[in-house]
Amino acid sequence: MARPLVAHIDPAAIASNLARVRALAPGAGVLAVVKANAYGHGLTRVLPALAAADGLALIELDAAVRLRDAGYRRPILLLEGFFEAAELSEIVARSLGVVVHCADQVRMLESARPAAPIETWVKVNTGMNRLGFALREVAGVCERLEAMGTAAPLRLMMHFAGADEEGGIAGPLARFDDACRGLPYARSVANSAGIVRYAEAGGDIVRPGIMLYGATPFVGRSAAALGLVPAMTLRSRVIGVQTLATGDCVGYGATFVAPRPMRIGVVACGYADGYPRHAPNGTPAIVAGQRVGIAGRVSMDMLTVDLSDAPQAGPGSDVVLWGEGLPVDEVAAAAGTVGYELLCAVAPRVAFVTAA
Ligand SMILES: *Cc1c(COP(=O)(O)O)cnc(C)c1O
Repeated sequence: MARPLVAHIDPAAIASNLARVRALAPGAGVLAVVKANAYGHGLTRVLPALAAADGLALIELDAAVRLRDAGYRRPILLLEGFFEAAELSEIVARSLGVVVHCADQVRMLESARPAAPIETWVKVNTGMNRLGFALREVAGVCERLEAMGTAAPLRLMMHFAGADEEGGIAGPLARFDDACRGLPYARSVANSAGIVRYAEAGGDIVRPGIMLYGATPFVGRSAAALGLVPAMTLRSRVIGVQTLATGDCVGYGATFVAPRPMRIGVVACGYADGYPRHAPNGTPAIVAGQRVGIAGRVSMDMLTVDLSDAPQAGPGSDVVLWGEGLPVDEVAAAAGTVGYELLCAVAPRVAFVTAA
């Protein structure tokens, strides 16, 4: 038997989550965010499920080129634009859109004199202080780009630093509106958290990422409560069982000491598969249909779970690490991170299966 660790991808879940985006942001254009290999799900694997999106957005030029080679004809936006002028010829040839967030990029565009129009999004820094032009620079940048003639169409965008927090929208949005006053271009503000709060956030075009994959953009608000369905279920099996006496230890560093006689199940999944090594004792998993907790340190290829209260579980039992029945967000919260990180981190050695 092959190693039993498999990431099951459910395209129907992604299509359903996309429909949820449409329902939350009626009338808005939807650019489905597929950076980082579609948040670890596999870009080509999820593409058919995103057929109803108006376009795609990502970071990686090589992946955008592969999308065009595969026949994708709708808009594709590079969310960080280009990193050097040498990329511009490919960008023009493939009709890719670019985000422009700094003066260097404007200069590169101006001196490249592109042979055809490039859809150009001016990114406004509304307080996150990561990428984007200062509020007072925005009108001038748009003027320069207009003057080029080939930075067209022009669009305006911003990114929320805290749309998942109470009050995270109003301030940045007011600054954005201020910077863009009188500019006649389509606008995009909302990521997943902004889409859930679309009534407040608004915008002509939305950029859903994490919600398409069925995880929550919020701390303390579950994906299920938002009407989202998990697109990835990471499944494995129990490949060994140990019977422990009180005081016996489990795993590297003996971080778990049996407080009583116990049964420990060994699961084929470790940090080399993308499972977080820092997941503490008690991090949930489902074994043979029952919720159990991790006991002992996650190692490279295996992790260990407490099966003392799951007598039906044994060698060969099915395990769900996250996905159906166990939101990735719960595992992430236990491990001190977010679902985004766990989904993106699933390693290349994990087998993938797509549901028919
Ligand atoms: C990643 C990204 C998104 C998607 O964010 P989610 O929180 O995953 O919805 C949207 N906009 C930009 C600019 C991004 O980089």
